[in-house]
Amino acid sequence: MGVSHLLSDVIPPGACNLLNSSTIYANNEVNLAEVDIYGFDYDYTLALYSNALNTMIYNTARGFLIEHFKYPEGICKYDYIPNFAARGLHYDIQKGLLMKIDAFHYIQPGTVYRGLNPVPDEEVLQLYGGTYHVPLQQDSGFYGKVKGGPKVKQFMDIFSIPEMTLLAAANDFFITNDIEYDPVHLFKDVSVSEAIGMVHLKGYMYKWVMEDLDKFILRGEETDAVLHRLVSQGKKLFLITNSPFSFVDKGMTHMVGKNWRDFFDVVIVQADKPHFFTDCIKPFRRLDGNGDLRWERIQSLEKGQIYKQGNLFDFLRLTGWRGSKVLYFGDHLYSDLADLMLRHGWRTAAIVPELEQETKVVCTDRYALNLTWLQALTGLMERLQTHRDPESKQVFQEWQSEREELRVMTKNLFNPQFGSIFRTCHNPTYFSRRLCRFSDLYMTSLSCLLNYDLSYTFYPRRTPLQHEAPLWMDQLCTGCMKTPYLEEIQAESDI
Ligand SMILES: [Mg+2]
Repeated sequence: MGVSHLLSDVIPPGACNLLNSSTIYANNEVNLAEVDIYGFDYDYTLALYSNALNTMIYNTARGFLIEHFKYPEGICKYDYIPNFAARGLHYDIQKGLLMKIDAFHYIQPGTVYRGLNPVPDEEVLQLYGGTYHVPLQQDSGFYGKVKGGPKVKQFMDIFSIPEMTLLAAANDFFITNDIEYDPVHLFKDVSVSEAIGMVHLKGYMYKWVMEDLDKFILRGEETDAVLHRLVSQGKKLFLITNSPFSFVDKGMTHMVGKNWRDFFDVVIVQADKPHFFTDCIKPFRRLDGNGDLRWERIQSLEKGQIYKQGNLFDFLRLTGWRGSKVLYFGDHLYSDLADLMLRHGWRTAAIVPELEQETKVVCTDRYALNLTWLQALTGLMERLQTHRDPESKQVFQEWQSEREELRVMTKNLFNPQFGSIFRTCHNPTYFSRRLCRFSDLYMTSLSCLLNYDLSYTFYPRRTPLQHEAPLWMDQLCTGCMKTPYLEEIQAESDI
């Protein structure tokens, strides 16, 4: 009888099937009955894109690097690697290292990559002056703006996954061919937010998507169903996107039909988020039927019209849509959600497509076994540490290395390089901490809304703080779980 057999006895029956990827998770209590107005970002919120888009962005950016910036042709040999990088990673611009950082600003050992290869932990410590800690003042911050330029940049955009992969590939090319280069130049040339590349890339991207909507846009009929449902129940809808009108119009017509504008009370394109939420400088402009800019001053935001730019302060003044009766959906934690949460008091909902894959992993027997054993072992180590005799010390060492192996195995279930986007070994990640701070709700896709009544209240689970005893039962009806025990409890009480 192996350990895994013993372990399976302590895992509650059915625990591995508890999670459901179409669930909406709550960080904060939200009563949908109080929400009258629903706002949306467009890219990766109303429109989900297939992975084919990542390959296209990668190939074009790689071509751009070689043709425009005259990088060596050899980089062409590096094809796009799906699932190499993950959202929320940090990149050390001067050292050319991709890494995962936790909520306390510590690098997770084993998740630092130079090119396509991991950097040994001892070397990482050496590179960072004997610590895994990365100081906040070196970080790119919410909007990537740090005086003198950031030393470490966090990639929070779903569009930046091909960008991280290209950085890794190009670094790898220079290192394996023993060519001297400056990682800072490479970052500037690749980084879509810094270089002129992004303007070109976004232009290409709009073109590809518009030419083959079926190939690139996923689950459009679900977006259609969500919008229908909200409107039929008397909710007001608005759209604030950074994308241009022609692109949004094509996609929305594909998903919802040519009358899609009837669903929205206000449509704003090329909004220039996050500045839309922070600055009150740019006034709204109206686009006419041909997509040309009009010169009139905007006195009201009218249904059926298309507006460009603008700012949140004018938006609030003209619509009167304030506070917690507004729920805004977006995929970018900083440029969509942070300011709304911290300054303006709208309710926020984060779209996190990665949840689908991650909850699948969490539901496997392998994960449940690993994690149960990991926790049991940690508890044993906590108790054994006070025993100073040589034999106990020896056992402690063995457990420690077993714990280390378990952590690596658990990490690899998600992504062999970087693990889960939500957790390091035991802490929440930098990404995860910000997700909890800037979103009231989070979910795989907008379609999760279809599973709930529009007067539903989301109650977050009360998880014990470190100083609290777990005195209460977990909420049996909690939205994030099916309730396998409820029937058992009822059956028992009938006896
Ligand atoms: Mg977006």
